Amino acid sequence: MSENCIKCGYSNTSNQKFGLPLCDFCLYFAPDDKIRFDEYIKEKVNSADIETFRKNFHSRGLQQKKGMILKASRGRLMSRSPFGYKIEDGKLVPAENFREVENIFQEFLNTKISLNQLSQKYKFSVNGLKKILKNFTYLGKIKFNNQIHDGNHQPIISSTLFNHVQNKLEQLKIK
Ligand SMILES: [Zn+2]
Repeated sequence: MSENCIKCGYSNTSNQKFGLPLCDFCLYFAPDDKIRFDEYIKEKVNSADIETFRKNFHSRGLQQKKGMILKASRGRLMSRSPFGYKIEDGKLVPAENFREVENIFQEFLNTKISLNQLSQKYKFSVNGLKKILKNFTYLGKIKFNNQIHDGNHQPIISSTLFNHVQNKLEQLKIK
């Protein structure tokens, strides 16, 4: 799906950041901090005005960035594999304990167990557990530069289960 860039109006952009469409150019300069990002988005620019920068930009920074994204998607930038995965021949593959990930997701979703109890049960810190429950890797995706990309690895959680867990996290105001 392609939309117009929210900052400059450039058409046919398929990038998103914080759920908003951005062209390659505006995305490159977009702050990672949400508050600064919102300010950045409010300052509109005219796509035609930055056309001259865009042309040169595409041959430089973007190439570099695309290369990094590609590397990340191959698991090369992952120094440590997420719980439930292991790295084999430079690729992310489900580890022997991969079913535990689903158990954690199911238990969080379907029982009244607190994050504290759940983290103790599986021997994680509460923060470690939250990271697991929000990790897009389990959907076969990778997060890089605050963007979600399709990865080359096998998902171990269904998107339905993952989405239900995200809803519950939101309902409980867990960040
Ligand atoms: Zn733009």
